[in-house]
Amino acid sequence: VQESVQDLQVARRRLPVFMVKNRLIDEIKKNDTMILIGETGSGKTTQIPQLIHEQRLEGAGAIAVTQPRRVAAITIALRVAAEMNTEIGSIVGYSVRFEDVTSPRTKVKYLTDGMLLREAIVDPLLKKYSIIVLDEAHERTISTDVLFGIVKLAQKERNDKKQNPLKVIIMSATMDVDSFRKYFHNCPVIYLEGRTFPVTIYHTKTKQDDYQYAAVCTVFQLHATTPANHDFLVFLTGQEEIETVMYNIKQIAKEATGPPIRVCPLYAGLPPAKQLQVWREAPPGTRKVILSTNIAEASVTIPNIKCVIDTGVVKERTWSGSSGAERLWVRACSQAAGWQRAGRAGRTAPGAAYRLFPAKDFAARPQHHTPEIVRCPLASSLLLLLAAGTDPSTFPLIDPPPLDSVKASLQLLKEFGAIDSETNPKLTALGKKMSMFPIDPKYSKVLLSAPEYNCLEEALSLVAVLSSENVFHTPIHKREEAFKVKQKFLSPLGDHITLLNVFKAFCKAPLKKQWCKENFLNHKNLTYACDVRHQLLTICEKLNMTVSSCGQAYDQLLKCLVCGLFMNCAWLVGGGGGGGGARRYVTVAGVAAALHPASALQALGGPRAPPALLYSELLHTGRAYMLTASAVQPHWLTQQAPAQARRARNNR
Ligand code: ADP
Ligand code: MG
Repeated sequence: VQESVQDLQVARRRLPVFMVKNRLIDEIKKNDTMILIGETGSGKTTQIPQLIHEQRLEGAGAIAVTQPRRVAAITIALRVAAEMNTEIGSIVGYSVRFEDVTSPRTKVKYLTDGMLLREAIVDPLLKKYSIIVLDEAHERTISTDVLFGIVKLAQKERNDKKQNPLKVIIMSATMDVDSFRKYFHNCPVIYLEGRTFPVTIYHTKTKQDDYQYAAVCTVFQLHATTPANHDFLVFLTGQEEIETVMYNIKQIAKEATGPPIRVCPLYAGLPPAKQLQVWREAPPGTRKVILSTNIAEASVTIPNIKCVIDTGVVKERTWSGSSGAERLWVRACSQAAGWQRAGRAGRTAPGAAYRLFPAKDFAARPQHHTPEIVRCPLASSLLLLLAAGTDPSTFPLIDPPPLDSVKASLQLLKEFGAIDSETNPKLTALGKKMSMFPIDPKYSKVLLSAPEYNCLEEALSLVAVLSSENVFHTPIHKREEAFKVKQKFLSPLGDHITLLNVFKAFCKAPLKKQWCKENFLNHKNLTYACDVRHQLLTICEKLNMTVSSCGQAYDQLLKCLVCGLFMNCAWLVGGGGGGGGARRYVTVAGVAAALHPASALQALGGPRAPPALLYSELLHTGRAYMLTASAVQPHWLTQQAPAQARRARNNR
C-alpha cells in the first residue's frame, strides 16, 4: 500500500486520540500507571507510542508495547514506521518469537507479550524501558496476566531503589475495568470518545449445523441485495477454514450475478504482503469480502466494513489440570466478543451484523471469555516465573488459576525434572536450561533429551517444523493431486517422520520456491521453520549440547519424543485388546480420540493399527482428533513415564 507521508499524517490527525492529544500527554506525564479505554480503531496502538515519543517522555529509555498476537505486533510496527517515515528496525521496531527487528536505537518497540516475558527472565526490572504499554488487556492471555504482575513488581522495586521510574499504561477496547483498577492501586482510567455508528443486529431463526456453509450462503444473499461499495467482514476460526470458504466464494462468484467480488483472507500465518491487501481499496464497483480469524475483532482495524457476518465461533485452547488433557477446539465465543465483532461494521457509517445463530443462543453465552490462565497449562509460565527468580506462591495475579491446574503443572515440571520439589519448587539445572528455549516445555524437554538418543539433528528439525504453521498446502480444488505428491514423503511410522522427510527435502532443494509449489508445500512456513531451527541450534550450542544424528534409526527419535510428550499418548483398546467394546484410541487422560483423517497413519487402519500413538495436539470439533500422530511402542512409555503409564492403564 503506497500512501504518501502527507496522506498518512492527514489520516493520523483524524483519529479520535488526536482530538484529546494534549490531555492524554498531561495524564501520561502525571501518572505512573493508567488505564486507557477506547473503541477499536481510535488510534490507541498506533498513536499513543508515537505521541509519547514525540514529547520524548521516554527519556533515555525505550517504550515497549505488547500485543497478544505476533501478526498484530508486526503489521502495527510496519504501519507506525511508515507513519514516522522511518525504516523498520531503527527508531521503530518489533520483536516476536524467533524474529527480532530492533536495534540499539529503537525507541518504540512492539513485541508480543510472550517476548517481554522472556526479557523479564534476563532482567526482571525491565530496566531498558521507561514506559511499558500493555495493550489488548481484555484478551487476558497468560503472558499478559503474568506481565501485569511483573511490571507491578518492577515498578515498585525501581521506585524503592530510586532507579529510573517505570510508567505503565494498560490499553483495551473493552474491559472489566474495576478489577484492573483495584489491581493497579486505583489508578486513573481514561476513556477515549470513539466515533461509532449504530449497527443493526440480525440473528438466524434456527441453529446452523454447518456455519461455513451458512457463511457462504449469507455472503451471496447479501451480495445480491447490497450496493457494491459495502465491504463484508466474515469471522471464521482458522487458516484452513478461511481457505475453504475463500475457494467456495470464488467458485460461486464466477456464476453469480452482481458486482465482482474480491476476497481477502486475514490470519496469522499469512505473509505480511498479503495481509496488507485487506487495507487496499477494491476498484470501484467491486465488493471486498474479508475472511478473518478473530484478529479483526480488536487487534487490527479494517476501515469501511458495512456488513459483519459472525459465525459466532472461535478456536480456543483449553486444558483440564486434573486430567492433563489439552484440547484445541472450536467453541462459541463470549457475548463481549460478539459485540466487538458486530462493532466492526459501524466504524465509518451505520452497518449491520448477521449472526449465524439464534438470539436465544447468544443470550445464553457467557459475558466475557475465561482468562487463559484459568483454562490453559501453566507449566510454561511457571517455568518462566521461577527462572525470573519470583516465588510463584506469592506472585500477584488478577485471577488466580485453579489449584488443581497449578498442582498438575508443578507435577508435570517435576516429572520433566525441571524442578526439585512440588511444594517448594526451585529450578534444577535442567529446568534452567529448559527455560532458555522459547518453546513449550514439552518440546524443550525433547531437545534436552535428544543427545542421549543421539538424535539432536532430527529433534531440532522436528521441533522447528512443529513450531511453525502447517507446512502442507492443499488447495481444495487440487486435493487429489496434492495427495498423490504427498505420498513420497509419507513414512509408515507416522506424521512426525513424514514432517521430517519434508523438512529434509526442503533443505536440500535448490530452487525452494518452485519446489514447494510443485510439492504442495507452504514455502513461507518452511522458511520460517529453518529460521526457528537455526535459533534453537544456537541455544543448544550455548548449552554445549552434542549435535549428532540418528540417521535412519527413527526409533531413537520417537523414543526421545516420548520423553517430552508422554502426556500426549493414546492406546488402542477394545476389540480383543483390553477394555472391551469396539477398537478405539484412549489418551493417557482417558479421552477417546480418533486419528485425524489427514494423518499418514490413516492407511494403517484395521488390523494394522498401531497399539499406541503419540500425537502433537488434540483437536476437538464435535469429536476428538489426534493431530500429527506417530506409532510408538507401549513399553517406551512404561519406561520413560511410569506414572503416566499407570494413569493411562487406570483410565482405559
Ligand atoms: P486501536 O488500537 O485504537 O484499535 P489503531 O491504532 O490500531 O487503533 O488503528 C488506528 C487506525 O489506523 C485505524 O483506523 C486503522 O484503519 C488504521 N490502520 C492501522 N493499521 C493499519 C495498516 N496496517 N494499514 C492501514 N491502516 C491502518
Ligand atoms: Mg489496538
